[in-house]
Amino acid sequence: MCSADAGRLGRCARHTCDLAFVDTSRNGRRAYCSVRCANNGAVARHRERLHGEV
Ligand SMILES: [Zn+2]
Repeated sequence: MCSADAGRLGRCARHTCDLAFVDTSRNGRRAYCSVRCANNGAVARHRERLHGEV
């Protein structure tokens, strides 16, 4: 129906990075542009896991 929904434009949650990325995850909860940034934002990511990240 709407191809625009195939990807969401997100922005890296890491302050020192601030890169834009296309979020292709199903629920669009991706917060970082890469695994590297995800590791750097481990604290924030831990908070997400408490909310039930699969
Ligand atoms: Zn990043």
